[in-house]
Amino acid sequence: MQIGFIGLGRMGFSLARSLLKNKLNVSVFDINTGPVRELAAEGARAACSIADACQGADIVFTMLPGPRQVRHVALAEGGVIHNLKPGAIYIDMSTVDVDTVDQLNDAFTGAGFQFGDAPVGRLAMHADRGESLFMLGIDEALLPAVEPVLYKMGTTIHHCGGAGSGTRTKIINNMMVLCYCQINSEALVLAKSLGLDIQKTFDVLTNTTASNGQLKEKWPKKVLAGDLTPGFDLALGYKDISLASSAGAATQIALPVCDTAKNVFRMALAAGKSGQDTSCLTDFWAEANGIDRIRL
Ligand code: NAD
Repeated sequence: MQIGFIGLGRMGFSLARSLLKNKLNVSVFDINTGPVRELAAEGARAACSIADACQGADIVFTMLPGPRQVRHVALAEGGVIHNLKPGAIYIDMSTVDVDTVDQLNDAFTGAGFQFGDAPVGRLAMHADRGESLFMLGIDEALLPAVEPVLYKMGTTIHHCGGAGSGTRTKIINNMMVLCYCQINSEALVLAKSLGLDIQKTFDVLTNTTASNGQLKEKWPKKVLAGDLTPGFDLALGYKDISLASSAGAATQIALPVCDTAKNVFRMALAAGKSGQDTSCLTDFWAEANGIDRIRL
């Protein structure tokens, strides 16, 4: 099996590396040549263009920042759709909006190819360890071809339905994750302002139904440990919560908590937090309320 992998950033690099560790033949491409060279040193074929990465591939994956880059790489002149071999499967793993994934599905199936979406759950550190979760949207008949390859990069696959259902599920998943960033931040800032011992408060909050995965698993390793390196970059978080907000607007569903959290993300970005982990929202909320940063 020949794989093409395009987009070797924080996530794509680790996912492509997992394929290599599992002895698959992978051609890699990114506009940034650094990760291409690094993976070539680990056995990948370094592709010099999108077309080159698609050359002879049975499955092509893209893992790109957002809708604009995905549409460009997939559909523009020289893009994936113009370079796939007949019968090949194209799977986008990026987090994009509903219109983009539907447009890709129409374009690729219309051109006689197979298309699926497999946005990734869990954190970048899970991708590093080959423990990602995939929200897979694809025709059921393609599962035997696709699932074994995804299992080389992750441990969990949820088949959400046909093409586009992975993206829809991911948008809802991340809306919840990102709302928790704000809820956790408000709770911890209030705890601090009430003079509570943060460790004792944390122990209670993570052992009752108030708990959430972000607070329990991520907060102690990231913002509460003073580690603000992304993980999940605040700017990408803003992109994702905006996708949920737009999906709500498009379907005329009110999302008041989501929209409030989106605005706080926007303010944190304006305060210079881009490039930091999404858990930095707790620092931003402390600063906005005039109290010291909270650490364990
Ligand atoms: P990133 O910005 O680190 O990586 C994106 C990569 O795409 C970069 O290496 C960039 O050079 C490359 N790229 C951009 N335009 C390109 C083009 N035209 N051709 C080839 N390469 C191009 O982003 P990331 O953190 O790896 O996230 C990728 C996607 O995964 C995003 O949609 C994100 O929302 C989603 N995601 C991220 C995380 C996380 O924790 N970082 C977790 C789950 C899902």
